[in-house]
Amino acid sequence: MTKKWLGTQIILNNVNYHELEKNDFLRRKLSLAKEALNLDTLIIWPDSDYKGLYLTREICQELKIKTYLWYSILADISLFKIRLEQTVETFQGLHGYGTSGSWEKLGQGEEDFFFLCPNDSGNLNNIFQHFQHILKLADLDGVFLDRIRFPSPANGLETIYTCFCPYCLESFYNDYGEDLNKYRNEIKNIFKRFKALDIDGLVTYEHLSQIFMPANLKKFFDFRRKSIYKTTKMFADKARENGKLIGLDLFAPSLAALVGQDYKLLAEVCDWIKPMIYCHTTGPAGLPLELSSLLKALMNLAPNLEEELLIQEISRMLGVCLPGKREALLKKGVPEEIIRMEMQKVNDFDLKKKIKIYIGWEAVQIPDIAYIDSGVLEKYLSIIWQLNLEGMVISWDLLKIPDENLKLVGDFLLKQ
Ligand SMILES: [Zn+2]
Repeated sequence: MTKKWLGTQIILNNVNYHELEKNDFLRRKLSLAKEALNLDTLIIWPDSDYKGLYLTREICQELKIKTYLWYSILADISLFKIRLEQTVETFQGLHGYGTSGSWEKLGQGEEDFFFLCPNDSGNLNNIFQHFQHILKLADLDGVFLDRIRFPSPANGLETIYTCFCPYCLESFYNDYGEDLNKYRNEIKNIFKRFKALDIDGLVTYEHLSQIFMPANLKKFFDFRRKSIYKTTKMFADKARENGKLIGLDLFAPSLAALVGQDYKLLAEVCDWIKPMIYCHTTGPAGLPLELSSLLKALMNLAPNLEEELLIQEISRMLGVCLPGKREALLKKGVPEEIIRMEMQKVNDFDLKKKIKIYIGWEAVQIPDIAYIDSGVLEKYLSIIWQLNLEGMVISWDLLKIPDENLKLVGDFLLKQ
């Protein structure tokens, strides 16, 4: 068997500590993961009083599992609720969610998916203080930085054209000597042009992001990706100063540019990257939801676009055959074959040699969000093995991964 690096994630902030302790529940779950997968690493989203975190750390030390602090930088977490007026500002001067294609369940779950601006130094410094505090307190082997991005299509198409807050205006002027406000009109014009978009227009695009990121917005999008890089570097440098390894949670390559994530730049500050290739997740970052949001936005904005033809063109750009209707995409998900295309794109980024890529795919069963059964697991594993990848993060919450899924992965590994 070729040994691959294997990690998984655990979310403790919604879990009752006594439930974790009861009948040695957590120890049994982690022992199973160690035994079935020979698990290398557990990435931990801490609970508010850290009792669960300390217990998990202790068990991992016994089982010789490395631990990472899972830290969300720019989106709301249980300890930092973000107020509407603190979120990134759209070209229309609005905050919060956009209206085109946004996910109807936004704001109904545990997270609001409100995003802070990476240039908002006041709010960011508060989070940075908290990060330094918990970094020392938790004392784990590494940090895993998450939500290092602008809002995604699931927040509404308008929000991928952020941010116009006073911090951004000042920072943009310092970098480019231009008034960022002039891009507000450019973006309004893009929305007008979407109205006239038809299939003849779509066939001219090679990549999905080209539809949404025209050349005249180059500086605007460069500014976004540099802003995300700067913020990520600030947190990553501090973690490294404290002797920690650094992993990053990034969007799938086909979507990364839309949220301001530049693999090549971000690879400079970390040890490994987890591209999230979630084919069956209808939550933010999940391919079915993000693609469906883009489709919905385009269909609402461009009355000349016929759904099935639009999906055919998007399929061509992604290199897989998506289900022919948006509703079916949400139900059936994206063909697992997309892993090949997305990992090829990671290769094409030509990242620095020593960076590791650990593909993230989901193994959870969460009603209405992601339900991964043995059929999907087998498809994921066989493709990943054919690609001979260095490792993977079995995502995203160990407590929501059924034991039979862990065992199935383990049995597959044994046979290789
Ligand atoms: Zn801003």
